[in-house]
Amino acid sequence: MFLESVKAKDFRNLNGGTKETGLGLELSRGVNILTGMNAQGKTNFIEAVYFCATARSHRTANHGELIRFGEDAALISINVSRGVDGRYKDRIEMSLKRTGKNAVVKSARVNGVPIDKLGDLLGILYCVIFSPENLSLVKSGPGERRRFMDMELCQVSKVYYYELKQYYHILRQRNALLKGMQKGAGAGDTLELWDAQLAESGGRIVSLRRAYIESISRVAAGIHQRICGEEFSAVYRPSVTAGEFLDKLKKNRETDIRNGSTGCGVHKDDVQFIINGLDSRVYGSQGQQRTTALSLKLAEVIMIREEKGETPLLLLDDVMSELDAARQEHLLSAISGAQTIITC
Ligand code: ATP
Ligand code: MG
Repeated sequence: MFLESVKAKDFRNLNGGTKETGLGLELSRGVNILTGMNAQGKTNFIEAVYFCATARSHRTANHGELIRFGEDAALISINVSRGVDGRYKDRIEMSLKRTGKNAVVKSARVNGVPIDKLGDLLGILYCVIFSPENLSLVKSGPGERRRFMDMELCQVSKVYYYELKQYYHILRQRNALLKGMQKGAGAGDTLELWDAQLAESGGRIVSLRRAYIESISRVAAGIHQRICGEEFSAVYRPSVTAGEFLDKLKKNRETDIRNGSTGCGVHKDDVQFIINGLDSRVYGSQGQQRTTALSLKLAEVIMIREEKGETPLLLLDDVMSELDAARQEHLLSAISGAQTIITC
């Protein structure tokens, strides 16, 4: 699949100089290099492409940030081709509208037809994004590692995408109820209902995450071995297993009410990376942690290629300068044949 062109208007600072028409860019099917001064909008461009393809940002969950300051709406559209010689063409148009202080409505059209569910975008353009934030994946908080799992899983599995959406919806309802109870409101049977739904949805997410981490661990281990000869594995560390989720919610009920939030569940999961038998977060050198991030990213490319039969678009934001010559070499040889956008 190839990204043929991009238009963006009022997506962060992107406008290309003409406020009326916005930014328009045609891309090569090989390597595209975006160079520029700091703060000119290179990362914003990468983010716009990723957002249009997946309805998610790699930088923020607050989509109000994506609309240009002082404006109420942003538009991005991309033209994509796939199949032999790129014979099938698709166009995605994504719009963001501010509806309140932190509220944003997203809507999308595919080939001119409005789509009901943003999940229907997935699969038109697969992207793998690699940015400096990823390089610190091992050391950063568990939230970053969950985001890593979610970003990849959502793209390859619509079932996961909808399940995760559902889970967070239930979690918000449960937390709102807990906050009410904290102030003395009664809950009746409602809490029981949310508990059951949360445990059910969470259980499905746990098994999807477990399977994904097992596969990516296998693929990344081979890459890691080739890069530096070390043994690597990724291990999924769920906050609760599917079987014990409901019991734990019941057991923690008093604490949850006191805190006004849910203390266990897949929103607390983590992933552990092990190099030569040692936890890389605790014992890994900076180089080992970078190699981990690189192996995982390259594994993602391979997995999408194998599972979906399409080579994903690679978005490399500022990472080349962060890697040493040997790792750059690995990255460049692994991406040969993939359409790439590199910023520097
Ligand atoms: P660097 O080389 O430093 O990574 P960059 O070209 O990648 O720079 P970006 O991160 O793409 O830079 O753009 C940053 C700029 O975008 C900042 O100056 C920031 O103020 C601006 N910006 C971010 N969000 C918005 C927004 N919602 N509206 C207008 N401008 C924004
Ligand atoms: Mg940048």
